[in-house]
Amino acid sequence: MEYRNIAIIAHVDHGKTTLVDGLLKQTVQLGHGEVIEERAMDSNQLEKERGITILAKNTAVMYKGVKINIVDTPGHADFGGEVERVLGMVDGCLLLVDAAEGPMPQTRFVLRKALELGLRPIVVVNKIDRQDARPEEVVNLTFDLMAELGATDEQLDFPILYAISREGKAFKDLENPKDDFSDLFEMVLDHCPPPSVDIDAPFQMLVTNLDYSEYLGRIVIGRVKRGKVKKGEFVNLMHKDGTMTKTRVTQPFTHLAMKRLEVDEVSAGDIVALAGIEDAQIGETVADLADPEALPIITVDEPTVSMV
Ligand code: GDP
Repeated sequence: MEYRNIAIIAHVDHGKTTLVDGLLKQTVQLGHGEVIEERAMDSNQLEKERGITILAKNTAVMYKGVKINIVDTPGHADFGGEVERVLGMVDGCLLLVDAAEGPMPQTRFVLRKALELGLRPIVVVNKIDRQDARPEEVVNLTFDLMAELGATDEQLDFPILYAISREGKAFKDLENPKDDFSDLFEMVLDHCPPPSVDIDAPFQMLVTNLDYSEYLGRIVIGRVKRGKVKKGEFVNLMHKDGTMTKTRVTQPFTHLAMKRLEVDEVSAGDIVALAGIEDAQIGETVADLADPEALPIITVDEPTVSMV
């Protein structure tokens, strides 16, 4: 399987949820996906209440046989550590900017981190249908912001898409609008580097996020750095203090649309979830039983708001 792993960076209300919903719908139309009913990235109750995106969530779409994993990034400086962890799983990002409002404070913080990590954003100027849209000016403002944040020449040479996410459209040429997201999918395939996929190496995955299921207990989420792991296989959980616990992967999952799919095996390059690693903490490594090797620990500043 070929993969692309991308993050979406956007200020609140600039259209992240609408864009992801639209991408999912179009892969359904193309016959590659599944129908989803709920709003894609907005299901967390706390997010609804606060109106901001807090917990990073994963979704995936298939395009031309390539699995594109899309991870949401929390758009708030309170979630510094999480932003770094999430961006550590991806090789590219979509920087979504409202065509009227332009770049806003919440864009800035995450963008800075993305640039520091060497990601080359694809700029998506959304809502160009707005009466007060000023797409060219917004592109210039985005360029200025990136320059101010220390972007390299390569990062400043960003590809641009103009979008009306609400109508399922994104296109490269403002004068020549298209009726679908095909330009966006193509650009992700062309511009976002594929992850390295060393399937034969010993299994290794950094625990980037945690979830919980009533039936399966703790679920660890991350990108498989190398190798593969099967359902029922024993692995080592490598703690931050250098000790290890032998544990068993009771169920691996991959993502498709907004669903977590039970699979028999997950492998390098993919963003996955594993049940069974009960004691895992964020920043620890799930590694091969015979040949365990820890990944560098990402420092985590825990959120300063209380989660319900
Ligand atoms: P999020 O907070 O970034 O997830 O933003 P949402 O996807 O919830 O969108 C915020 C608002 O912008 C909603 O009312 C959307 O309907 C609206 N919106 C999204 N895309 C477009 C667009 O292309 N054009 C216009 N005019 N409005 C849009």
